[in-house]
Amino acid sequence: MKVGIVGIGFVGSTAAYTLVLRGLVNDLVLVDLNAKAARAHAEDILHATPFARAVRVVAGDYSLLEDADMVILCCGVGQRPGETRLQLLERNAAVFSEVVGQVLRYTKEPILLVASNPVDIMTHVTVKLSGLPPERVIGSGTILDTARFRALLGEHLGISPSSIHAYVLGEHGDSEVLVWSSVKVGGIPIADLARQRELHLTEEVVAGISDGVRHAAYRIIEGKGATYFGIGAGLAHIVQAIRDDERRILTVSGLTGAVAEFKGTCLSLPRLVGAGGILDEFRPDLSVAEDKELRKSAALLRKLFDELHLEGLRRSSTVP
Ligand code: NAD
Repeated sequence: MKVGIVGIGFVGSTAAYTLVLRGLVNDLVLVDLNAKAARAHAEDILHATPFARAVRVVAGDYSLLEDADMVILCCGVGQRPGETRLQLLERNAAVFSEVVGQVLRYTKEPILLVASNPVDIMTHVTVKLSGLPPERVIGSGTILDTARFRALLGEHLGISPSSIHAYVLGEHGDSEVLVWSSVKVGGIPIADLARQRELHLTEEVVAGISDGVRHAAYRIIEGKGATYFGIGAGLAHIVQAIRDDERRILTVSGLTGAVAEFKGTCLSLPRLVGAGGILDEFRPDLSVAEDKELRKSAALLRKLFDELHLEGLRRSSTVP
């Protein structure tokens, strides 16, 4: 599989390294405005290949993306002092108009995997700019939040996160919804299982885990400036699901079509991911309170997207 990554900062370089270590790609192309840094990452990552498997790793311009099956977008600009969230979004949308245009100049119907934040809005912007079928534009969404939820539940229960079915839906951000009502471990509702293990889900435990999921990024960024290991592994997990047509249910973001109440909005729902991208999407089973929270999260994302001025933006490569 040939995969390109645009934006080789913390997230892009970690995703590249993870893809190589897990042997998920044959060809890896790194593109960044900072060509020197991208070349240095390619060279460094290439030196890991004898310890994993042979992968061609190169860095350079967009023409190297020719015939890539997938391109991961991790590029973006940081917030300027005094800048509003909307102004930042507009600058990132401008970056994407250039990047998506260049990517599509050299690829035929690739799958685009968006990681740049705010990821739900950037996914929606990518759907609009690319004109690709919506199932081929995937946002990493709450894949990381879901992983955090499972990791913390597993830690509390002393059970592997892989045996825990728990989901975070909605926005990848403050309005995300932790679906406590449907968490199951080995097919058993979590409160029941916790009781059997005498590791009760007290209010304090629930609040601690919820806080751990919601505020993880703030704490990590305060401690080391950026988050990248979790999302790097999450992006590789999505690539694997597509490459191997695994048909996994993942909480990724995409332009909702079938679930009527969220139609036309990009947010995370349980989605079926395999060869071709998003194969299906599902209405989650929620409590009344969670349903209200998810609708609120969707409304917030819709409003933010509607406020964006995309009229002036076109894919740069389509501009004569
Ligand atoms: P970073 O600043 O280290 O990297 C961004 C890279 O994009 C830089 O190397 C920069 O040179 C490049 N870039 C900027 N404009 C470009 C352009 N026009 N063309 C090509 N490259 C360009 O940032 P990071 O920590 O790697 O984060 C990248 C993005 O991922 C951010 O938007 C961040 O918020 C997001 N992120 C998402 C998640 C998630 O769960 N989805 C988690 C962590 C970070």
